[in-house]
Amino acid sequence: MKAITIVGASLAGWRAAQELREQGFDGRLVIVGAENRPPYDRPQLSKEFLTGKWDVDELALSDTGETDGLRAEWRLGTRAVRLEHRGGAIALDDGTEIRTDGVVIATGATRETIPGAGEIPGSHLLYTLDDALAVRDEIRAGARVVVIGGGLVGGEVASACQALRAKTTVVDVRHMPLVPTFGIEIAPLCFDLHEDNGVRTRCGTAATRVLGTDRVTGVELADGRVLAADIVVVAVGVTPATGWLRGSGLRVRDGVLTDSGMVTRLPNVVAVGDVARYHCVYRGQRVRFDHWANAMNQPPIAVRNLLAGRTVAPYTGVPHLWSQQYGSTLQFAGYVRPKDKVDIVEGTTAAQRFVATYHRGPRLIGVFAMNMPKRFAAYRRRLPAALAPSKQQASRELSASGPRR
Ligand SMILES: Cc1cc2nc3c(=O)[nH]c(=O)nc-3n(C[C@H](O)[C@H](O)[C@H](O)COP(=O)(O)OP(=O)(O)OC[C@H]3O[C@@H](n4cnc5c(N)ncnc54)[C@H](O)[C@@H]3O)c2cc1C
Repeated sequence: MKAITIVGASLAGWRAAQELREQGFDGRLVIVGAENRPPYDRPQLSKEFLTGKWDVDELALSDTGETDGLRAEWRLGTRAVRLEHRGGAIALDDGTEIRTDGVVIATGATRETIPGAGEIPGSHLLYTLDDALAVRDEIRAGARVVVIGGGLVGGEVASACQALRAKTTVVDVRHMPLVPTFGIEIAPLCFDLHEDNGVRTRCGTAATRVLGTDRVTGVELADGRVLAADIVVVAVGVTPATGWLRGSGLRVRDGVLTDSGMVTRLPNVVAVGDVARYHCVYRGQRVRFDHWANAMNQPPIAVRNLLAGRTVAPYTGVPHLWSQQYGSTLQFAGYVRPKDKVDIVEGTTAAQRFVATYHRGPRLIGVFAMNMPKRFAAYRRRLPAALAPSKQQASRELSASGPRR
């Protein structure tokens, strides 16, 4: 391959660029990014960045030396609008086109929204650094903040608001918001941190609309109630950024579908990070996660397969996430499924310091920890072996999920 283009200049795109050079690709490398900023790390945006403990410079994924070492053409502030000619060309929103032999799709996701959010001053979606700067500028002691979305990002925003002594309420359509992330047994132990720390919660009712004209005044709920607000932050989930791939010939269904090696149905196009719905060797089905660890760890495999022109290795990373709220560290690795058996194996829930394991039958499939990072690491190390399919299963998986399916 003489030319490779990476679309998306965030974590997955940056890691793909590093790997391309490390794995010996010496040709033309173009990196297209819709945000007009060099790659930065998102997770801090809802954590200590909001409370002012981190600054913009500390979010950078690389220094100038590393960036120069990539010998890449950067097209920042430019959006890819079409993938054409079976991955041989990319049309950009500035009217230009890039001819390319290989493509890495790393366009991640965009924040879902509700009517009025992000349009009325004082209401914000939280996904990008610019969003976080706008939120950070506004949060102040005594302000009434409504956080829409009680998932991990919403929880972190509420925690930051509480640290800044804002009067904070978390709203979520689910009765117990963290169930999809941690399962029914562990979710309440985490969600209770809000009320334990003086943050109000309103669960089981959707927020339907942000209210206000010149300035936000409140949030309307589906049951007709209105929560008064000076600031609204929306963190209700994300949608994979695949709109630009319409008509490309790729299969897209809540993400770009790939085989187990992150290769799409076009062998010269791979997808990585939040945008990729990949065939998981452990689950035997396609999965997609909005987790930093996947965006970090998928590119080496994707690049290897891209340079080989076919899938020669599967991605075998185990999903892993963390969150920091109210001084507590929450960590999870593996998979959550209804009917898993969950046991507290170390520490106590009363002390808010414990490890829980998730089993399907005799098989360990996940581990959670609150404030026990070293013990979490020990259990997490067991997961790849515990989850691994047999050798025959693995080779069946690799061929069954081939790039042309
Ligand atoms: C506030 C926040 C906090 C988070 N905290 C955690 C955490 O604690 N732990 C954790 O595991 N994960 C966390 N995450 C998730 C984690 O940040 C993501 O999983 C990770 O950023 C995914 O990286 P990515 O490169 O795949 O996609 P993204 O980071 O979404 O980047 C995709 C990039 O592609 C660009 N793009 C999109 N479309 C186009 C186009 N058509 N042309 C050009 N460029 C395009 C976008 O502008 C964006 O810059 C958090 C996310 C957010 C938003």
